[in-house]
Amino acid sequence: MQISKLADLTCQEKHTWMQRLIDRAYILGEQGEVPVAAVVLNNKGHCIGHGRNTRNKNFDPLGHAELVAIHQASLIKSDWRFNDCTLIVTLEPCQMCAGALVQARMGKVIFGTKDLKRGGLGGTIDLSLHKSAHHKMIVEGGVLENQAKKQLQSWFKDQRLKINQD
Ligand SMILES: [Zn+2]
Repeated sequence: MQISKLADLTCQEKHTWMQRLIDRAYILGEQGEVPVAAVVLNNKGHCIGHGRNTRNKNFDPLGHAELVAIHQASLIKSDWRFNDCTLIVTLEPCQMCAGALVQARMGKVIFGTKDLKRGGLGGTIDLSLHKSAHHKMIVEGGVLENQAKKQLQSWFKDQRLKINQD
C-alpha cells in the first residue's frame, strides 16, 4: 500500500469536497436521478474526475457516480491504477462499485453516509477486507454523514410521495 503517495487531505478539505458533492447531488435529485455524486482526486488533491448517477439519463445500469468518475479520471491519468488517488462519494459505494474500486486499486475511499441495504464497504459486506481483495484500500466513512443521509432520505421520501400522487 502506497499511503505516502496519497493526497493528505485535512478535515476541512474533506468537508469542503463532501459539501460540494452534496450540492451537486441535490441538482441531480431534481432531475430524477438518485442524488449521489463522486470525485477522484490525484496525489496533489486535484480533481481528475467527477461523476454523478446517470442510470436514468443513459439507461445505464453501470452509470453509478463512482464508475463515471473513475472512467473520466482514467482517461486523464492514462492509467487504470489508482493507488495514489482518493475517491470521495456521498453514499457508501455499492457492491459493484466497491468491487470496481478494488480492481482499480484505489488508494483511499471517503464516503458520506453508510448504505445498510447495498453497501459494499461495510454496510452489507466489506469487499475491501474480503479475502478475494488483492488490493487493500483505506476506507473512511462518515464525512458529513448526517447531511448526506438526510439528503437521500428526503429524496426517497419525495419520490414515494410523487408515486402516491400519480
Ligand atoms: Zn455503485
